[in-house]
Amino acid sequence: MSADESSPRQGPVPCRIVLVETHYAGNLGSVARAMRNMGMSDLVLVRPVARRDDTQAVRMAVHAGDVLDNARIVPTLEEALAGTSQSAATAARVVGPVREIKKGFPRDIIPAMVEFATTDRPVALVFGPEPSGLTTADVSLCHHVVKIPADHTYSSLNLAQAVAICCYEMRLAWISRAPRARPVPATFESQDQLFRHLREALEAVGYLFGEKQETLMHGVRHLISRMGPEDRDIKLLHGLARQILWYVRTHPGEAVGLAPEEMPERFPREE
Ligand code: SAH
Repeated sequence: MSADESSPRQGPVPCRIVLVETHYAGNLGSVARAMRNMGMSDLVLVRPVARRDDTQAVRMAVHAGDVLDNARIVPTLEEALAGTSQSAATAARVVGPVREIKKGFPRDIIPAMVEFATTDRPVALVFGPEPSGLTTADVSLCHHVVKIPADHTYSSLNLAQAVAICCYEMRLAWISRAPRARPVPATFESQDQLFRHLREALEAVGYLFGEKQETLMHGVRHLISRMGPEDRDIKLLHGLARQILWYVRTHPGEAVGLAPEEMPERFPREE
Protein backbone atom coordinates (compact mmCIF):
# COMPACT_ATOMS: atom_id res chain seq x y z
CA MET A 1 0.00 0.00 0.00
CA SER A 2 1.40 3.39 -0.88
CA ALA A 3 1.56 6.30 1.53
CA ASP A 4 -0.74 8.50 -0.56
CA GLU A 5 -3.64 6.08 -0.48
CA SER A 6 -5.83 7.97 1.90
CA SER A 7 -7.85 5.19 3.49
CA PRO A 8 -5.79 2.26 4.71
CA ARG A 9 -7.73 -0.77 5.94
CA GLN A 10 -9.66 0.31 8.98
CA GLY A 11 -10.71 -1.69 12.00
CA PRO A 12 -8.89 -2.69 15.17
CA VAL A 13 -5.39 -4.15 15.09
CA PRO A 14 -5.41 -7.49 16.97
CA CYS A 15 -2.46 -6.69 19.20
CA ARG A 16 -2.41 -6.64 23.00
CA ILE A 17 -0.08 -4.27 24.79
CA VAL A 18 1.27 -5.63 28.07
CA LEU A 19 3.02 -3.28 30.50
CA VAL A 20 4.93 -4.88 33.36
CA GLU A 21 5.24 -2.88 36.62
CA THR A 22 4.87 0.56 35.08
CA HIS A 23 6.09 3.18 37.57
CA TYR A 24 5.02 6.52 36.06
CA ALA A 25 1.38 7.44 35.67
CA GLY A 26 2.15 9.79 32.77
CA ASN A 27 3.51 6.82 30.82
CA LEU A 28 0.26 4.89 31.35
CA GLY A 29 -1.68 7.77 29.80
CA SER A 30 0.77 8.26 26.92
CA VAL A 31 0.70 4.53 26.14
CA ALA A 32 -3.12 4.58 26.07
CA ARG A 33 -3.07 7.50 23.64
CA ALA A 34 -0.49 5.90 21.33
CA MET A 35 -2.51 2.68 21.30
CA ARG A 36 -5.72 4.48 20.45
CA ASN A 37 -3.94 6.43 17.66
CA MET A 38 -2.77 3.13 16.18
CA GLY A 39 -6.14 1.35 16.43
CA MET A 40 -5.48 -0.77 19.52
CA SER A 41 -7.41 -0.99 22.77
CA ASP A 42 -6.37 -4.24 24.49
CA LEU A 43 -4.15 -3.04 27.37
CA VAL A 44 -3.06 -5.33 30.20
CA LEU A 45 -1.14 -4.08 33.24
CA VAL A 46 0.95 -6.56 35.20
CA ARG A 47 1.41 -5.46 38.86
CA PRO A 48 1.27 -1.73 37.96
CA VAL A 49 3.04 0.60 40.39
CA ALA A 50 1.38 3.74 38.98
CA ARG A 51 -2.38 4.21 39.17
CA ARG A 52 -4.37 4.60 35.98
CA ASP A 53 -6.71 7.09 37.68
CA ASP A 54 -3.78 9.38 38.59
CA THR A 55 -4.30 12.88 37.11
CA GLN A 56 -1.05 12.55 35.11
CA ALA A 57 -2.33 9.37 33.47
CA VAL A 58 -5.71 10.87 32.67
CA ARG A 59 -4.12 14.09 31.35
CA MET A 60 -1.69 12.29 29.03
CA ALA A 61 -4.37 9.90 27.72
CA VAL A 62 -6.46 12.87 26.41
CA HIS A 63 -9.12 11.10 24.27
CA ALA A 64 -7.94 7.59 25.13
CA GLY A 65 -9.36 7.47 28.65
CA ASP A 66 -11.44 4.44 27.63
CA VAL A 67 -8.28 2.43 26.92
CA LEU A 68 -7.07 3.15 30.48
CA ASP A 69 -10.47 2.46 32.05
CA ASN A 70 -10.83 -0.85 30.24
CA ALA A 71 -7.26 -2.03 30.92
CA ARG A 72 -7.10 -5.32 32.82
CA ILE A 73 -4.82 -5.63 35.84
CA VAL A 74 -3.25 -9.06 36.43
CA PRO A 75 -0.64 -10.42 38.85
CA THR A 76 1.55 -12.35 36.37
CA LEU A 77 2.85 -12.08 32.81
CA GLU A 78 1.50 -15.59 32.14
CA GLU A 79 -2.01 -14.32 32.84
CA ALA A 80 -1.43 -11.27 30.67
CA LEU A 81 -0.42 -13.49 27.74
CA ALA A 82 -3.36 -15.90 28.08
CA GLY A 83 -5.30 -16.10 24.81
CA THR A 84 -2.48 -14.70 22.65
CA SER A 85 -0.86 -16.63 19.81
CA GLN A 86 2.60 -15.00 19.74
CA SER A 87 4.38 -12.47 21.87
CA ALA A 88 7.44 -10.25 21.70
CA ALA A 89 9.36 -8.81 24.62
CA THR A 90 10.95 -5.43 24.03
CA ALA A 91 14.36 -4.44 25.34
CA ALA A 92 17.20 -2.09 24.54
CA ARG A 93 19.74 -4.73 25.63
CA VAL A 94 19.44 -8.50 25.78
CA VAL A 95 21.78 -10.68 27.79
CA GLY A 96 21.74 -14.11 29.41
CA PRO A 97 20.15 -17.43 28.52
CA VAL A 98 17.62 -16.22 25.98
CA ARG A 99 19.74 -16.97 22.94
CA GLU A 100 17.18 -19.26 21.31
CA ILE A 101 14.65 -16.45 21.12
CA LYS A 102 14.45 -14.70 17.79
CA LYS A 103 15.77 -11.17 18.22
CA GLY A 104 15.49 -8.31 15.81
CA PHE A 105 14.46 -4.79 15.00
CA PRO A 106 10.72 -4.02 14.90
CA ARG A 107 10.62 -4.47 11.10
CA ASP A 108 12.28 -7.87 11.30
CA ILE A 109 9.90 -9.25 13.88
CA ILE A 110 6.54 -7.50 13.77
CA PRO A 111 5.42 -8.34 10.18
CA ALA A 112 6.10 -12.03 10.90
CA MET A 113 4.01 -11.83 14.09
CA VAL A 114 1.07 -10.34 12.21
CA GLU A 115 0.74 -13.64 10.33
CA PHE A 116 -0.25 -15.21 13.65
CA ALA A 117 -2.79 -12.53 14.66
CA THR A 118 -6.55 -12.93 14.50
CA THR A 119 -9.31 -11.01 16.23
CA ASP A 120 -9.89 -13.77 18.78
CA ARG A 121 -6.21 -14.75 19.09
CA PRO A 122 -4.19 -11.53 19.19
CA VAL A 123 -0.44 -11.18 19.35
CA ALA A 124 1.18 -9.30 22.24
CA LEU A 125 3.96 -6.79 22.74
CA VAL A 126 5.45 -6.76 26.23
CA PHE A 127 7.17 -3.74 27.80
CA GLY A 128 9.18 -3.57 31.01
CA PRO A 129 9.36 -1.32 34.07
CA GLU A 130 11.03 2.07 33.55
CA PRO A 131 13.80 1.62 36.11
CA SER A 132 15.01 -1.85 35.17
CA GLY A 133 13.40 -3.30 32.03
CA LEU A 134 12.05 -6.87 31.77
CA THR A 135 13.60 -9.76 33.70
CA THR A 136 15.13 -12.75 31.91
CA ALA A 137 12.23 -14.86 33.19
CA ASP A 138 9.73 -12.48 31.57
CA VAL A 139 11.66 -12.39 28.29
CA SER A 140 11.86 -16.18 28.13
CA LEU A 141 8.05 -16.46 28.17
CA CYS A 142 7.94 -14.58 24.84
CA HIS A 143 8.64 -15.84 21.32
CA HIS A 144 10.70 -12.87 20.15
CA VAL A 145 12.72 -9.94 21.41
CA VAL A 146 12.29 -6.59 19.70
CA LYS A 147 15.01 -3.99 19.99
CA ILE A 148 14.54 -0.47 18.62
CA PRO A 149 17.92 0.41 17.12
CA ALA A 150 18.52 3.61 19.06
CA ASP A 151 21.91 5.29 19.37
CA HIS A 152 24.27 3.06 21.35
CA THR A 153 25.31 5.95 23.65
CA TYR A 154 21.72 6.18 24.97
CA SER A 155 19.67 3.28 23.69
CA SER A 156 16.96 3.20 26.35
CA LEU A 157 13.82 5.02 25.17
CA ASN A 158 11.02 6.45 27.24
CA LEU A 159 8.51 3.63 27.77
CA ALA A 160 5.59 5.32 26.00
CA GLN A 161 7.77 6.33 23.05
CA ALA A 162 8.97 2.75 22.68
CA VAL A 163 5.31 1.62 22.76
CA ALA A 164 4.38 4.21 20.11
CA ILE A 165 7.13 3.06 17.72
CA CYS A 166 6.20 -0.60 18.11
CA CYS A 167 2.46 0.08 17.77
CA TYR A 168 3.12 2.07 14.61
CA GLU A 169 5.12 -0.81 13.14
CA MET A 170 2.37 -3.22 14.16
CA ARG A 171 -0.28 -1.08 12.49
CA LEU A 172 1.79 -0.71 9.34
CA ALA A 173 2.34 -4.46 9.15
CA TRP A 174 -1.35 -5.15 9.83
CA ILE A 175 -2.78 -2.81 7.22
CA SER A 176 -0.39 -4.03 4.54
CA ARG A 177 -0.55 -7.72 5.43
CA ALA A 178 -0.92 -10.43 2.81
CA PRO A 179 -3.91 -12.79 2.99
CA ARG A 180 -3.50 -15.36 5.76
CA ALA A 181 -1.26 -18.22 4.70
CA ARG A 182 -0.76 -20.19 7.87
CA PRO A 183 -3.11 -21.80 10.35
CA VAL A 184 -3.66 -20.12 13.70
CA PRO A 185 -1.33 -21.42 16.40
CA ALA A 186 -2.46 -22.69 19.79
CA THR A 187 -2.84 -20.14 22.58
CA PHE A 188 -0.08 -19.24 25.04
CA GLU A 189 -1.75 -21.17 27.86
CA SER A 190 -2.25 -24.36 25.86
CA GLN A 191 1.42 -24.21 24.74
CA ASP A 192 2.46 -23.53 28.35
CA GLN A 193 0.48 -26.54 29.59
CA LEU A 194 2.22 -28.69 26.96
CA PHE A 195 5.64 -27.48 28.10
CA ARG A 196 4.80 -28.46 31.68
CA HIS A 197 3.75 -31.93 30.49
CA LEU A 198 6.89 -32.32 28.34
CA ARG A 199 9.07 -31.16 31.25
CA GLU A 200 7.55 -33.83 33.47
CA ALA A 201 8.21 -36.51 30.82
CA LEU A 202 11.74 -35.32 30.05
CA GLU A 203 12.56 -35.31 33.76
CA ALA A 204 11.12 -38.79 34.21
CA VAL A 205 13.19 -40.16 31.35
CA GLY A 206 16.36 -38.51 32.74
CA TYR A 207 16.88 -36.00 29.93
CA LEU A 208 16.38 -32.99 32.19
CA PHE A 209 18.51 -32.96 35.31
CA GLY A 210 21.14 -30.89 37.06
CA GLU A 211 22.12 -27.34 36.45
CA LYS A 212 21.63 -27.39 32.66
CA GLN A 213 17.99 -28.39 32.83
CA GLU A 214 16.60 -24.86 32.67
CA THR A 215 18.67 -23.99 29.58
CA LEU A 216 17.69 -27.27 27.90
CA MET A 217 14.00 -26.82 28.67
CA HIS A 218 14.21 -23.25 27.43
CA GLY A 219 15.64 -24.59 24.16
CA VAL A 220 12.89 -27.21 23.80
CA ARG A 221 10.25 -24.61 24.57
CA HIS A 222 11.50 -22.23 21.92
CA LEU A 223 12.12 -24.91 19.33
CA ILE A 224 8.44 -25.84 19.52
CA SER A 225 6.90 -22.40 20.00
CA ARG A 226 8.90 -20.91 17.11
CA MET A 227 7.00 -23.17 14.74
CA GLY A 228 3.65 -21.82 15.89
CA PRO A 229 2.12 -25.23 16.72
CA GLU A 230 -1.58 -25.62 16.01
CA ASP A 231 -4.06 -27.22 18.43
CA ARG A 232 -3.62 -30.62 16.76
CA ASP A 233 0.20 -30.41 17.05
CA ILE A 234 -0.20 -29.69 20.76
CA LYS A 235 -2.41 -32.77 21.07
CA LEU A 236 0.19 -34.90 19.29
CA LEU A 237 2.98 -33.71 21.60
CA HIS A 238 0.81 -34.32 24.70
CA GLY A 239 0.48 -37.87 23.39
CA LEU A 240 4.27 -38.15 23.15
CA ALA A 241 4.72 -36.87 26.73
CA ARG A 242 1.99 -39.22 28.00
CA GLN A 243 3.60 -42.23 26.32
CA ILE A 244 7.05 -41.39 27.74
CA LEU A 245 5.56 -41.07 31.24
CA TRP A 246 3.61 -44.29 30.83
CA TYR A 247 6.69 -46.18 29.66
CA VAL A 248 8.93 -44.89 32.45
CA ARG A 249 6.33 -45.75 35.09
CA THR A 250 5.54 -49.22 33.78
CA HIS A 251 9.11 -50.23 32.87
CA PRO A 252 11.30 -49.16 35.76
CA GLY A 253 14.93 -50.00 34.92
CA GLU A 254 14.19 -51.08 31.33
CA ALA A 255 14.11 -47.76 29.58
CA VAL A 256 17.69 -48.10 28.34
CA GLY A 257 17.79 -51.86 27.97
CA LEU A 258 19.78 -52.58 31.13
CA ALA A 259 18.96 -54.78 34.07
CA PRO A 260 17.89 -52.73 37.09
CA GLU A 261 21.17 -53.53 38.94
CA GLU A 262 23.22 -52.31 35.94
CA MET A 263 21.38 -49.02 35.67
CA PRO A 264 23.45 -45.94 36.37
CA GLU A 265 21.41 -43.32 38.11
CA ARG A 266 21.26 -41.69 34.70
CA PHE A 267 23.15 -41.86 31.45
CA PRO A 268 26.01 -39.40 31.18
CA ARG A 269 25.10 -36.45 29.04
CA GLU A 270 27.29 -35.65 26.05
CA GLU A 271 28.78 -32.22 26.58
N1 SAH B 1 16.38 1.23 32.15
C1 SAH B 1 15.96 0.08 31.45
C2 SAH B 1 15.05 0.43 30.31
C3 SAH B 1 13.69 0.59 30.72
S1 SAH B 1 12.82 1.55 29.57
C4 SAH B 1 17.12 -0.63 30.82
O1 SAH B 1 18.13 0.00 30.56
O2 SAH B 1 16.97 -1.82 30.53
C5 SAH B 1 11.23 0.82 29.73
C6 SAH B 1 10.87 -0.12 28.63
O3 SAH B 1 10.81 0.57 27.37
C7 SAH B 1 11.80 -1.29 28.39
O4 SAH B 1 11.62 -2.32 29.33
C8 SAH B 1 11.36 -1.70 26.99
O5 SAH B 1 10.14 -2.40 27.08
C9 SAH B 1 11.11 -0.36 26.32
N2 SAH B 1 12.30 0.12 25.62
C10 SAH B 1 13.10 1.16 25.94
N3 SAH B 1 14.10 1.30 25.03
C11 SAH B 1 13.93 0.33 24.11
C12 SAH B 1 14.62 -0.05 22.92
N4 SAH B 1 15.71 0.59 22.48
N5 SAH B 1 14.14 -1.10 22.21
C13 SAH B 1 13.04 -1.77 22.62
N6 SAH B 1 12.36 -1.45 23.74
C14 SAH B 1 12.78 -0.42 24.47
